[in-house]
Amino acid sequence: MTTQVPRLHQNDGETIPQIGLGIDGPRNQRATEAVVTALELGYRSIDTAAFYANESGVGEGIRRSGVPREDVHVTTKIWGDDHGSKSAAAAFERSLAALGLDYVDLYLIHWPHPGKDKYVETWLALEELLAEGRVKSIGVSNFQPHHLARLFRETTVRPVVNQIELHPGFQNEQTRQFNTEHNILTQAWSPLGRGRVFGNLKLEEIARKHSRSLAQVVLRWHVGLGNVVIPKSITPERMKDNLDVYDFRLDTEDYAAIRALDDGKRTGDNPDDFG
Ligand code: NDP
Repeated sequence: MTTQVPRLHQNDGETIPQIGLGIDGPRNQRATEAVVTALELGYRSIDTAAFYANESGVGEGIRRSGVPREDVHVTTKIWGDDHGSKSAAAAFERSLAALGLDYVDLYLIHWPHPGKDKYVETWLALEELLAEGRVKSIGVSNFQPHHLARLFRETTVRPVVNQIELHPGFQNEQTRQFNTEHNILTQAWSPLGRGRVFGNLKLEEIARKHSRSLAQVVLRWHVGLGNVVIPKSITPERMKDNLDVYDFRLDTEDYAAIRALDDGKRTGDNPDDFG
């Protein structure tokens, strides 16, 4: 039996599996193997990016798995070097060719790169891809509330997701709340804090209390908050573990204890300062 992951509703009428496989790191052959394993285990969503240099491996994994294309939600992202109207359109064609697909489910602006000041123009290029039916949905990543507010003022289509750094050590609460208020799903990148959560005594205690793994406690916390998550693993047992979080619940005390673990320290860049 494979695990059935609930799908969350996006503001454009499409849906997205609440748990997907993040695949930043493994290059082509290993990415292919990880995608095949994940799809066998019941994953139906894969998060890649042009920057991860493994889109061709991801596409190959989807084909090799035998799972019908329409059953797999594929996200990829446009890198900062390709911001701007013409560059964005060309970057999308390169991603699609590398994936070997004829559409992607979700295309994201990877970072706003405020120094380039081209994210509005890039968003308009994504709106065109959407209108042409080349992408099913469009969204953003690493956008702060003020970047989103500018998109609202200057463009017409609202992002369906904002993929941001979010884990117990960096809960990104202000941006998460802003997303929710504007009907944008929060997708948590590095949901396990790039491994930083492991060894935390409080999380270990909560895991013991529920007889679950620490990763499952953290992912259960995310899904309880309504986040979409994309934990990365290339280890089959862990991939399986990371899907099995729907048959237990955390209690109010657990939520309060995890809330207190936020030390405000990012593992990645601050979007306001990055490029
Ligand atoms: P994660 O928080 O997902 O942590 C991944 C690490 O945790 C790996 O070392 C993995 O090891 C380990 N791990 C996973 N599951 C378990 C488990 N059940 N038990 C023990 N260890 C486990 O970090 P990532 O930074 O990889 O983030 C996830 C995804 O988010 C990325 O792959 C990418 O798709 C996306 N992302 C997006 C960014 C953006 O700017 N939009 C930035 C960063 C990430 P192993 O693989 O060896 O099993």
